[in-house]
Order: sequence, then structure tokens, then C-alpha cells
Amino acid sequence: MHEHEHDHDEHGHHHPRSASEAELRTRALEALLVEKGIVASDAIDAVIDHYVNDVGPQNGARVVARAWSDPAYRERLLADGTAAIAELGYGGEEGQTMVVVENTPDTHNVIVCTLCSCYPWPVLGLPPTWYKSPPYRARVVAEPRSVLREFDLELPAATEIRVWDSTAEVRYLVLPQRPAGSDDLSEDELAALVTRDSMIGTGVPRAPAAV
Ligand code: FE
Repeated sequence: MHEHEHDHDEHGHHHPRSASEAELRTRALEALLVEKGIVASDAIDAVIDHYVNDVGPQNGARVVARAWSDPAYRERLLADGTAAIAELGYGGEEGQTMVVVENTPDTHNVIVCTLCSCYPWPVLGLPPTWYKSPPYRARVVAEPRSVLREFDLELPAATEIRVWDSTAEVRYLVLPQRPAGSDDLSEDELAALVTRDSMIGTGVPRAPAAV
């Protein structure tokens, strides 16, 4: 679309640094857009700030707490994650098609992106560094139980572990089991128990604090 694109491609091919290909491409793209006056640098900062500060696991926690509190919502969430998540006002980039997988006493779900770092931004914000790391991406598929143990999550031997490989098209969110002792909690109080890792599947929700 722009004649200068090829110049930049030539410079962008070799990179001695340890930054990932995606990071380098992102930086190159940002520099190009700013240079051409297509976007201002502070506009990009605002997008990043939005995903760091405004969008985060608190959104996913609201989805989970609603599912725990409202059986009809839970059914809609499992049947069509994208639509049910949109009911709470979340959706869009990096989460256009959402599939929610439910943990049960028999089954524990974990999400990964084996190819790169696909992650459900609208409900979890930006992915943690370990999610993007090659060891996590490779090992959680090959030996999920060992990887979960490293997250201090020891699952019963009888629990089946299902690993879901995210793609550009489909992003997953784990619906964790509601912790014991949370029967009397409000939806807000329930949301406070839901950790980011419990929605990735590398953790479980915190039990309510003993009063
Ligand atoms: Fe990816």
C-alpha cells in the first residue's frame, strides 16, 4: 500500500536481539505508522494503556461470577461464549470468537497458544510473560500435569486434563469450579475470588477467606 514498505522490510529481516519476531514486527509497524503520520505515538500508548489498566482479568472474573450466580447465564456462556460475554459488555479485538470451557470434578481445562501467544484480551487483558514462553507452550501440551504442579496446582490423578490450543480465530476462557464455602457470597464477592490463572487453567479460584 506504500512504496516505502519494501525499504523497511529489507531492514527488518535480521535482528540480533532477543526480542521476539512479533515484538520486532510490532515495533517496526508502530514506527512506520507514526512516521507516516497515520497514528500518533501517544494513540498507540493509549491502546496499550487500555489493555493494561482498563481491560484485564477483572472482566473475566465478572463473567465467571455471573455464571456461578445465574444458571441460565452459565448455559448461554457455554453454548455461545462470544454472545454471553458480550452481554456483559466485553468483546472485540483478540476475542472475536470466544469458547468457554467448564471445569468439573472430573475435568480440568487449560489454555495455551502453541504457535505464538493468542489469548482472550477482552476478558483477561494482555498475556503474562510465561504464557508466551516457548517452554510453557510446548510442555503444557506434552506434560500438563507436571506444568500445573509447577504452578502449585496438584490435581487428583483421576482428573482428566484437557488442553485447548488458542488460534487467531478462537480464544478460550476457562470457567473454573466455584470454590467450596462460597455459597453465601454476592456476585461481586465471588468475582474477587477469581484469579487470572484460574481462567487460564494454571490455577484455581481462591477459597473465600475464613471470617
Ligand atoms: Fe497465538
